[in-house]
Amino acid sequence: MPQKHTSNILASSRQHPAYWLDDGTLIVHVGDSAFKVYDTLPQQSTVLASLPRWTEQDVPAIQIPDHLAVQRADFEALLDHLYNKIPIGDHTPFPRVAAVLRISSERQLNIPAINATARKRLMELYPQSLDDITMHIDHADLALDLAVQYNVAPILRGLYYQVATGSHLDDDDGGVEEAQMNALAHLPQEVSQRCTTLLDELIAHFTPILFTVATANHMACTDVFAELWMPLVIQPAIENNGLSKPIETLQAIIDMDWSSHGLCEECVQDKREEWKEEQRVVWNKLGDWIVE
Ligand SMILES: [Zn+2]
Repeated sequence: MPQKHTSNILASSRQHPAYWLDDGTLIVHVGDSAFKVYDTLPQQSTVLASLPRWTEQDVPAIQIPDHLAVQRADFEALLDHLYNKIPIGDHTPFPRVAAVLRISSERQLNIPAINATARKRLMELYPQSLDDITMHIDHADLALDLAVQYNVAPILRGLYYQVATGSHLDDDDGGVEEAQMNALAHLPQEVSQRCTTLLDELIAHFTPILFTVATANHMACTDVFAELWMPLVIQPAIENNGLSKPIETLQAIIDMDWSSHGLCEECVQDKREEWKEEQRVVWNKLGDWIVE
């Protein structure tokens, strides 16, 4: 590295308040911050190991090249994990997982073992199957963006569903549509476009199902549906945006106390199986739509 460049770095770098270790053996420059850490880090990262070195304050120094776009906060999160200060574990929230996943990826420092740990934790935070599709999740839009960028396939379907339908948003306090617009606006255009298409597909698929009055094995039970399908199913679905959330709407139909409305036990069981099957159909179609 040219001397002039090096002294410019020195002049403008700020020592990191926490990661300037007295017994550190390597200075790492990230943007305009300088970290003094142990010279074991490059052993795990071929990218760091390949960087040119110079001597600074009697220890070797390297600079992470700007083109890797490593963020200072991500490097801190990596050190927190590496030095066991805040390791990625069962309770690590999304932002920290995302930071470590990015920086340990092939696009940045390429540390496969740590990247695997971050990916594993990310997958725990988000639904991977129909059974947990409606689990409450945080940062759904950011997680979708990350999962797309880094191809975390097992959680893509659930994240696309939640973001496309807005089911990750708290709809108790209104303003869901606006929040949904905001969430989509922050995503890369290709991803937000895909969410919009997905929602259209979901609605197109689910509309005829919702608006077709259920039938049962017995005339008396079919009569119950004929009378109640509109007030108990269609009406609430229209009021609660249920058309665009087929899995939740089907669950609400499954959970209804149909026996108390006069349906026989056999029909209740049969219909519940049928509605669960409809949920599986939606889930499978989601998978097809996403890979298309
Ligand atoms: Zn019946």
